[in-house]
Amino acid sequence: MPTQHPPVTTPDSTVTSLDAVALRRFLDGENAIVREHVRAIVARPEFRKGEGPPPTEEYRDQVLEWARTLAATNGPSLLFPPEFGGLGRVGAAITAFETLGHSDLSLLVMCGVQFGLFGGAVHHLGTRKHHERYLAEIASLELPGCFAMSETGHGSNVQQVETIASYEPETREFVVHTPTESARKDYIGNAARHGRIAAVFCQLEVGGASRGVHALLVPIRNGAGTPADGVEISDCGEKLGLNGVDNGRLRFDRVRVPREALLDRYAEVTPEGEYRSRIENPDRRFFTMLGTLVQGRVSVGGASISATKSALTIAIRHAARRRQFGPPDGDEELPLLDFRAHQRRLLPRLAMTYALHFTQEGVVAELDRIFGSLGEESDENERDRRQLETRAAGLKAIATWHATETIQACREACGGAGYLTVNRFAELKADTDVFTTFEGDNTILLQLVAKSMLTGYRDWFGDLNPVATAGVVASQVWETVVEKSAARELIQRLTDDLVPGREREEDLLDREYHLGLFRWREEHVLSGAARRLKRGIDDGSDPFDVFNEAQDHVLAIAVAHVHRELLESFCAAIERCEDPELRGVLAKLCDLYALAEIERDRGWFQEHGRISSTRSKMVTRAVNALCAELRPLAEELVDAFGIPDEVLAAPIGLPGGEASRSSMAKLDGELPDVRLILEEMGKEDAP
Ligand SMILES: Cc1cc2nc3c(=O)[nH]c(=O)nc-3n(C[C@H](O)[C@H](O)[C@H](O)COP(=O)(O)OP(=O)(O)OC[C@H]3O[C@@H](n4cnc5c(N)ncnc54)[C@H](O)[C@@H]3O)c2cc1C
Repeated sequence: MPTQHPPVTTPDSTVTSLDAVALRRFLDGENAIVREHVRAIVARPEFRKGEGPPPTEEYRDQVLEWARTLAATNGPSLLFPPEFGGLGRVGAAITAFETLGHSDLSLLVMCGVQFGLFGGAVHHLGTRKHHERYLAEIASLELPGCFAMSETGHGSNVQQVETIASYEPETREFVVHTPTESARKDYIGNAARHGRIAAVFCQLEVGGASRGVHALLVPIRNGAGTPADGVEISDCGEKLGLNGVDNGRLRFDRVRVPREALLDRYAEVTPEGEYRSRIENPDRRFFTMLGTLVQGRVSVGGASISATKSALTIAIRHAARRRQFGPPDGDEELPLLDFRAHQRRLLPRLAMTYALHFTQEGVVAELDRIFGSLGEESDENERDRRQLETRAAGLKAIATWHATETIQACREACGGAGYLTVNRFAELKADTDVFTTFEGDNTILLQLVAKSMLTGYRDWFGDLNPVATAGVVASQVWETVVEKSAARELIQRLTDDLVPGREREEDLLDREYHLGLFRWREEHVLSGAARRLKRGIDDGSDPFDVFNEAQDHVLAIAVAHVHRELLESFCAAIERCEDPELRGVLAKLCDLYALAEIERDRGWFQEHGRISSTRSKMVTRAVNALCAELRPLAEELVDAFGIPDEVLAAPIGLPGGEASRSSMAKLDGELPDVRLILEEMGKEDAP
């Protein structure tokens, strides 16, 4: 995979003030109008919540009603092609979803299941007959549905699900059956109460031959809301969070569905019972099918960034006001944010959240480019799609872990007040926790990222087993790394850094230096893992064991890769920012992100001779200095996230000063159709 290096400049100004509204506009980017619109919607009284979640059944109904209100604005239609009543604006849809991530997260997940997962399965795995029949009803929520992939026995390894769909040419029907306890569909959103139909992932059997995992549409409830014949539905019960989503279990007892129920974009079964697919390799077919559902991962990554922004907004505003201790000779105690330890807990995490924001923006733009209007992806962009899947997987993993860790840090930073339900951390912690697990468990996703980096896309399609190809590519990867002249120069430069006399503090703020270290780490971990795998295979060990023994190393590839992407995306954002004041602030934040990451991993950098102990201490001093510099701007930096007060809702997180809130749009009266918003965007785009 070629690495694209954005140009770099390092503004060296000292920044003392910040226009939060201008920064908000910059962060809002291309889909600013969509963000403003969703903010205004979720700030309305009908979306207000009480303190803490309501009783579960009430909560589930409330969430459905909220989702219906959103559907009535035509928002979900953004996801679907115009030919079938949609608006074909995937990027805008994901941006809207991200913004919804500031409000109730059960509502967000319910929308994700209905419009993104269920709707996405029908859209991307189905064909015209499915689109004509279902897409409009899915978008309007007249047809609440489920995405039933996970089973009690298999959640991560979905290629091994056990539910069977066997075709009967005599009746021209599929028979869907749950053969074992472990084949029960589990955790399925919308199943316990509201769903009427499910996209069920089954092992397809045609003419006695197994054809691998395919999805079929299976009605699970009839019009009266009772389970359909042969379908057993049970409730997963109370969860750690997200209790407004009705997760349930499904079991099928030889349920019959017509031949047309098969979502047959990638494989069809003729009436006579002949199986046909344009993708011969079953593994490749399976991964191609899964790949079309990438928008779910992009959405969860984005929503976790929004939840992180909410937590940081509350904690930073509180820290700017809350006073404790002070100099013995002074009359006043100091705001918490004046304490270095407090700055250290919040500001590097804020900087990384900005890095994630810009990276997410790039991934959404790429998703929009590839799936944009019709989702009619051509074979030419298959390579782009694979790259997007890798980026989305890595970003989702790092963003959701960052959310979990940051929300906890913010809760602690608010002391006892942070523990009160009214201040929202309880809900943020509970509801975002599972983001690390669903839409692909993070550890599994990082293995996918590393696998694609080890094998390259050509190899991916030649043989999807990473272990089998690892031996072949290992030496190739190493060659590439050492042959790169840039890498050689970099090694020289980094070696120079080890001479103590040449270590100068100001170099630490050189963006090329940060990029050099991040790129070197990624390339070094990658080539090291490749050599290790090759050595194991050359020694005649079982490839599965070799890969398993190197799993820690493999995961490190992915983490290093994502951090390099974060830094490059941040640099690219600074480059395109035309306002010198904002550029200066963003450059400082970027320095803080980069140096805090180097500091976090300084053990590794030192182990590998990339920084000396002297330099390592300088990094810590530089992080401290950046925290002090950014401290006066911290409130504006969270104001720029543009979270309406009504939505943020935590009393300790409400704004203290004038800042940017007054410029936030309000939306009274009827909710406007999203088409009007698109028209407005069109006017803005017009020359
Ligand atoms: C609230 C909620 C909502 C959900 N909604 C839906 C839904 O609507 N539809 C749906 O189909 N599914 C849904 N799921 C299921 C979800 O996608 C799965 O829980 C997820 O994919 C993980 O699968 P699992 O629970 O079986 O965990 P497992 O696969 O058993 O994994 C458990 C742990 O083992 C680790 N692990 C597994 N394999 C490996 C390996 N090879 N190497 C290293 N570590 C490994 C994982 O990292 C993880 O930490 C939902 C789950 C939850 C909790």
